[in-house]
Amino acid sequence: MSDNQIQCYDVAVIGAGMAGMAAALFAAERGLSCIQIGSGGGILFASGLLDLLAVHPVAEHRLWPSPYEAVAALAREQAGHPLARVDAASIRTAFETFVAALTSAGMPYAPLGQRNSSVITSIGTVKTSFCVPQTMIAGVDALARRLPCLLVDFRGLREFSARQITETLADDWPALRHQRIEFAGFEAMPELYAAHLARALENREARERMIARIKPLLGDARVVGLPALLGIGRSGEVHAAFEAGLGLPVFEIPTMPTSVPGLRLLGALEAVMSARGVTRRHQSSVRALRFDGSKALLELEGVRGGEHIEASAVVLATGRFSGRGLNADQQSVRESLLGLPVQQPLAREAWHQRDFLDPTGHAINRAGLTTDDAWRPLDASGKPAWPNLFAIGSILAGQDWMREKCGSGLAIATAWSAIEQLMQQLHGAQAR
Ligand SMILES: Cc1cc2nc3c(=O)[nH]c(=O)nc-3n(C[C@H](O)[C@H](O)[C@H](O)COP(=O)(O)OP(=O)(O)OC[C@H]3O[C@@H](n4cnc5c(N)ncnc54)[C@H](O)[C@@H]3O)c2cc1C
Repeated sequence: MSDNQIQCYDVAVIGAGMAGMAAALFAAERGLSCIQIGSGGGILFASGLLDLLAVHPVAEHRLWPSPYEAVAALAREQAGHPLARVDAASIRTAFETFVAALTSAGMPYAPLGQRNSSVITSIGTVKTSFCVPQTMIAGVDALARRLPCLLVDFRGLREFSARQITETLADDWPALRHQRIEFAGFEAMPELYAAHLARALENREARERMIARIKPLLGDARVVGLPALLGIGRSGEVHAAFEAGLGLPVFEIPTMPTSVPGLRLLGALEAVMSARGVTRRHQSSVRALRFDGSKALLELEGVRGGEHIEASAVVLATGRFSGRGLNADQQSVRESLLGLPVQQPLAREAWHQRDFLDPTGHAINRAGLTTDDAWRPLDASGKPAWPNLFAIGSILAGQDWMREKCGSGLAIATAWSAIEQLMQQLHGAQAR
């Protein structure tokens, strides 16, 4: 390919999980030309809830009502944690920007406050999260006040049982009832899938039939809970129709992955990228990356065949093992694209505790890249590997996002902070 065919961007984001999406959004909102490469990452598996930080320290499993107080404690006690390196005001602005974009793309969230919320899960446990989709928020109030509540599920729906939820919470929430009904139009199907039902409910007649089936069951209920299948792209409309038809607040309960809220989130983020003018290569991956002075050169592979991209800066948001940002063999963990040094336990035996359920977690789940204050990954000598390479999200060392319940928070906060640093660097370069 000749040079004049190479496309040039201010920033190339490698990765399309939560971190890559957040970085591409923040870059585009600041007027940078941006290309994003990679497929949907962990987003499809997400519950729709955006965690900021719920648990610290992991060993004590201490739950925090305020995620901001949790981050402050993290900063005092574990200063190297990536989330502890972003100030509260930036975290707040980052979340507000991210959520406003999702809301504008048809996935509305409840207004952001200062506190975490408690949300019922599909197995009857309670999850602590920060940012709750509008379709789930009535469940937070119902749980907090133990309101008379009817949970409804559908015969044949996989991996969701209103009865199990009710039985698990019975001692604590006696006013919770459950009913299993047939899903109208799907009576002959032995197994039902949430995504099919969600699509069906986008049809007005289908949802009116379901509302008519649920209404006679309400009794003294003051709120109704359903599995999260109230539409995919039009969940706001479907949810509002159920509330109007039943005359009560209605809430969704997140289902097991791959979930309808995960599909919604991915769809909304893709719409956001397109509306902000981000160029996407969602069926491609970066085969090679090298740096030449102030430019990064990316070699892509994918359905379009080979492609070459030039960018002034690169954001590495390639995740850990499931994202393929890190890979491991019998001896060690390696960063997949550039062979950057990975902070990891010295010996293979130290990767895991003996007990899989050890409350302190496993050292391997804190492996990752170390960076300088500007989020630039360090080389073996402890200096930034390249001045225009930034790393964000779950590839960073020193965090265990699953146990700490900080997946989205880590992704969104580090993306925001890294794009700020990247902007300063690009402006500095232009001024010189
Ligand atoms: C089961 C599950 C449940 C979850 N539940 C929640 C939840 O309740 N609340 C919450 O806040 N978050 C949840 N999450 C999401 C979580 O927040 C994010 O997945 C996590 O923060 C990691 O995001 P990431 O973007 O760093 O990495 P990943 O999501 O792993 O994304 C990595 C990306 O990099 C791409 N990539 C890797 N190598 C290359 C390459 N060479 N070229 C191009 N692209 C490349 C991959 O294709 C992928 O797009 C859940 C995730 C999972 C898996």
